[in-house]
Amino acid sequence: FVRYRGVSKSFGDNEVLKEVDFDLMPGERVAIIGPSGSGKTTMARLLMTLEEPTSGTIEVDGQHLWHKEVKGKLVKADEKHLHQVRGDIGMVFQHFNLFPHMTILRNCTEAPIKVLDLSKKEAEERAMEMLDKVGLADKAKDYPASLSGGQQQRVAIARALVMRPKVMLFDEPTSALDPETVGEVLQVIKDIAKSGEMAMMLITHEMSFARDVADRVCFFDNGTIQEQGPPSKIFSDPETDRLREFLSRFD
Ligand code: ATP
Repeated sequence: FVRYRGVSKSFGDNEVLKEVDFDLMPGERVAIIGPSGSGKTTMARLLMTLEEPTSGTIEVDGQHLWHKEVKGKLVKADEKHLHQVRGDIGMVFQHFNLFPHMTILRNCTEAPIKVLDLSKKEAEERAMEMLDKVGLADKAKDYPASLSGGQQQRVAIARALVMRPKVMLFDEPTSALDPETVGEVLQVIKDIAKSGEMAMMLITHEMSFARDVADRVCFFDNGTIQEQGPPSKIFSDPETDRLREFLSRFD
């Protein structure tokens, strides 16, 4: 469903990802863990089409991200194609980037009106449903500045869900938050994981969260997937010394 094949990415001489093969099945929740600089965020940025792979291909739901198939051959895709495929991917980053001059509701209706061509009424209905899901329907008329960091991040999650993406991508969604608001954001993500059918890719440093939510955990190190498997295996019975050493930092 999401399929990376032989994906490499270099910045100058720095090869950040090395021929990575990675799959995400429909409805599957995969946590990506690994040390700083191991290439996790680059994996996410490639899927968000914020970076282009140096080599290799990425597909979402049978569609190539960076390429188009023309007469059986892969050619480089244009901006219109990228825009279309991007619509299937919902993203929540470390920094929530809400529009400060818009109400919470407007923050959530802007994209569905502009990108999905929904009427204002339809977009508002959807947005209210999602704000309710993240427990913030009563804040719809407020502005971001009046919300805590954790609440703002929950709005960012609702804003992504309003687009009904096929894949939700979370890149360290709690690492910029005050410790006391981390729990509420993780709980919202857990609830979404339980209730939805969406595939999820979660980049996280929260090991107990990864253990609770993920069907599979991928350990990245040095630009490759060093080890992957169900959380029970990865956290309780790691095979490589590198993973053992990495996990020991969280004890
Ligand atoms: P962290 O957990 O700290 O976010 P990460 O595993 O997500 O780390 P990446 O952010 O993917 O790691 O970065 C991997 C490497 O790629 C780092 O050495 C980083 O300096 C480099 N890198 C990332 N983006 C760029 C860029 N735009 N230009 C140059 N180098 C980059």
